[in-house]
Amino acid sequence: MAKVLLENIKRRFNNVTAVEDITFEIPDGEFWVLVGPSGCGKSTILRTIAGLEMATSGNLFIGDRLVNDIPARARDVAMVFQNYALYPHKTVAQNIAFGLEMRKVDRKKIQERVLTVARSLSLEHLLDRKPKQLSGGQQQRVALGRAIAREPQLFLLDEPLSNLDAQLRDDTRAELKQLHQQLGITTIYVTHDQVEAMTLADKIVVLNRGRIQQIGDPQSIYALP
Ligand code: ADP
Ligand code: ADP
Repeated sequence: MAKVLLENIKRRFNNVTAVEDITFEIPDGEFWVLVGPSGCGKSTILRTIAGLEMATSGNLFIGDRLVNDIPARARDVAMVFQNYALYPHKTVAQNIAFGLEMRKVDRKKIQERVLTVARSLSLEHLLDRKPKQLSGGQQQRVALGRAIAREPQLFLLDEPLSNLDAQLRDDTRAELKQLHQQLGITTIYVTHDQVEAMTLADKIVVLNRGRIQQIGDPQSIYALP
């Protein structure tokens, strides 16, 4: 895990400014949630941190490393999207193991890690299934497992629950909170759902039209008048 520091991040697309003046520092191990209306820049910020977009200007640090020019694959960041995008021909175990196999971790270590991750996400009875034999919620848990199996320094989630029905969303949200408490990986989570923001966040960043409107803990952001 690592702290994350954004200093004056700006991202322009042609002549549209998607985000600007984005400055905040997330301490090691905290869970931060980015909220705001559609189009306010949440995904752009997350994708910039992941290295899937390059900032037009500003500085981005992960841990103590300035990563402005570091490509996504070298950032030690894992990202989970709204649509699970699992490998359809691989089993649950093979999906979870994928990032570790790419890194040439030894077989025994991979096996242990797959089991640990599967247990913490209640997937241990599904290891030999293929994605299409799983429910939506199970598939998204596999996507979470695949992302965290290699113990990234930073975990980024872009509306990971919004394709699930209400019951599954509640269950998966609870699992995610538990997973974070267990692993303590610094996490940045994008949502437009207030319940998710309130239950998951250490801090909430409220965005509006590409700028930060407010940063605070859930009580201060959603305090009733
Ligand atoms: P959010 O995730 O909050 O819905 P986005 O980060 O997707 O917002 O978008 C922020 C702004 O940047 C929007 O005005 C959007 O139209 C613009 N934008 C995002 N990606 C691109 C792109 N690839 N090309 C042009 N404009 C973009
Ligand atoms: P492969 O033929 O690529 O080894 P497997 O499905 O046997 O495919 O396994 C993929 C990875 O997941 C391997 O690293 C394996 O150790 C691990 N794995 C597979 N099944 C289990 C299981 N039931 N428990 C723990 N790890 C498993």
